[in-house]
Amino acid sequence: MSYAKLVSALVRGNSGKLRISSGRCRSTAASTKSREEKEPGGCAVVEAQPVELISQTRSASDAPLSRVHIDFDNTKEAYESKGNAELIRSLVVFKLCTVDLLVEKNKELIDLSRKVLGQWLFEKVMKMTFYGQFVAGEDQESIKPLIKKNQAFGVGAVLDYSVEEDLTQEEAVKKEMDACVSEAEKGSPGADHREKKYKAHRQFGDRRGGVTSARTYFYADEAKCDNQMETFIKCIKASGGASVDGFSAIKLTALGRPQFLLQFSEVLVQWRNFFNFLAAQQGKSEMMLLEQKLELDQLKANLTQMGVGAKDDIENWFTGGKLGSSGTIDLLDWNSLIKDTTKISNLLMVPNIESGHLEPLLKMFTDEEERQMKRMLQRVDVLAKHAVENGVRLMVDAEQTYFQPAISRLTLEMQRRFNKEKPIIFNTYQCYLKDAYDNVTVDIELSRREGWYFGAKLVRGAYMYQERARAEEIGYEDPINPDYEATNRMYHKCLEYLLEEIEHNRKANVMVATHNEDTVKFTLDMMNEMGLSPTENKVYFGQLLGMCDQISFPLGQAGFPVYKYVPYGPVNEVIPYLSRRAQENRGFMKGSQRERSLLWKELKRRLLCGQIFYTPVY
Ligand SMILES: Cc1cc2nc3c(=O)[nH]c(=O)nc-3n(C[C@H](O)[C@H](O)[C@H](O)COP(=O)(O)OP(=O)(O)OC[C@H]3O[C@@H](n4cnc5c(N)ncnc54)[C@H](O)[C@@H]3O)c2cc1C
Repeated sequence: MSYAKLVSALVRGNSGKLRISSGRCRSTAASTKSREEKEPGGCAVVEAQPVELISQTRSASDAPLSRVHIDFDNTKEAYESKGNAELIRSLVVFKLCTVDLLVEKNKELIDLSRKVLGQWLFEKVMKMTFYGQFVAGEDQESIKPLIKKNQAFGVGAVLDYSVEEDLTQEEAVKKEMDACVSEAEKGSPGADHREKKYKAHRQFGDRRGGVTSARTYFYADEAKCDNQMETFIKCIKASGGASVDGFSAIKLTALGRPQFLLQFSEVLVQWRNFFNFLAAQQGKSEMMLLEQKLELDQLKANLTQMGVGAKDDIENWFTGGKLGSSGTIDLLDWNSLIKDTTKISNLLMVPNIESGHLEPLLKMFTDEEERQMKRMLQRVDVLAKHAVENGVRLMVDAEQTYFQPAISRLTLEMQRRFNKEKPIIFNTYQCYLKDAYDNVTVDIELSRREGWYFGAKLVRGAYMYQERARAEEIGYEDPINPDYEATNRMYHKCLEYLLEEIEHNRKANVMVATHNEDTVKFTLDMMNEMGLSPTENKVYFGQLLGMCDQISFPLGQAGFPVYKYVPYGPVNEVIPYLSRRAQENRGFMKGSQRERSLLWKELKRRLLCGQIFYTPVY
């Protein structure tokens, strides 16, 4: 088969599916335990069952392990940090979120109220309602009291500066198309050989559509990216000042031109597909992903035959270091070939269907574009260094699938450099993705092999509607699991793998970032079963500020490391964030109403006990 045919096969069909078994595939610290696959079932509403868990560290092996009792129905504990006025505010806000008209027309209503009330009164009303519920304050100083109070009740903070531009759809689309299309593409559209998934499409230019939970950044220029980096630095410093063990969250789309993320993602995916194709050539495609070890001699012969490079060049790929010394190459070795050639000009290699060669994308770039890419990597580096200096752990948020391979890979490169002594950089894995388990297992294996601390935040994923609509309209495979149950199973499967990794190798860390009570209970049950103590600080929990206090606070008071994502920023500039909160809570509250009923229960309990003016003591 000629290389042209190979490439065309890759581009068309992505050369088949990656196969990975549902079993463990650890090269080291292999788990021999067989655990039954658990079917999590529907997740939104659960019967509250007290969860027992071990409260002492495992190392104290001769001491009997005592058990902590967590009751997610205990409203006294859940709302101990809240005064009555705050409970009433939560009830009002969550009730308002169930009024469809209010949620759907929230933008128009906000504009109208601003006009009618005037800016001063509008801000007061917002602070008494939505802003007060979901946002901690305007700046690093004003959020301190809330952070201190939550800490006193066992709940930490992941600071998340939440200012967003309030762009119209047309403005957003224009910015996106300018930022995602290279000068060469603008000059001769269609002349390249890019996959359509990794190209900007005008109809999806406004990346805010169909997204809950997540904030969206649009590129304007390099100065704006520098400003955003400065904001993240302030946030990191504030996290360092606010607690010993703080977290800060960042998004890579804020730090540079997204064109680079699109192109690098495409290269990474094609590179992986290429490995898959080569594995098929050696009859190994049916094997588990990490067990596909390609015979080096045969691989070199195949590559030379395909005309991918000159014989000497190919020979050079596999010399130096340990690469290929075993006579075989696996996916991790293969991926490291990209790292080994990381002069940026060599980084972006893609197959060209017509010429049948791997060609650098960069030769089509202007000098300014190349400088922009370098600056993005430099900004990421600056932030990681600030995180280290301030003793803060950095969470890199996951974004859309056409950016995510690059985001994840750049985060992994940071982990390699900065997680040698402890976990500083955390990657995010979205379990609504069909390939979430592959991604988690491959990255864990790499951390194990190279000996650095693995840090992961596990989420279900915030971009589902947009991802599905884009895949259907542009014409590529939907990257999302077929249904909610499949996403739940994927989440629990990835989590189980991670917890087993922690059980065997205390270098891994995970944040279980979810509002799903079933998933939290599943985690506690597994920790209990494995004897993983909360005080070891290996398993964290994460929820958003203003949501699911009935999960966060009992966990915190039982000694678990639990964190709220704490958004902050001036009222006018967090309005887009608040609109999304209203929308997410609409779906959420309709499904369960659990949080409201618990808030009512606690309010009634206090009134019956005569605690009309309850104020939290700390
Ligand atoms: C602390 C924290 C940090 C976060 N960081 C990120 C981040 O970096 N990147 C990011 O993308 N998201 C992030 N999120 C958002 C997260 O991905 C979810 O959108 C949100 O938390 C809702 O999921 P859940 O597990 O809390 O609740 P659930 O109600 O149990 O799950 C809802 C989620 O299930 C999935 N789902 C729903 N219906 C279907 C269906 N029909 N088919 C397949 N899947 C379905 C979707 O992902 C949906 O958001 C974060 C959330 C938290 C709490």
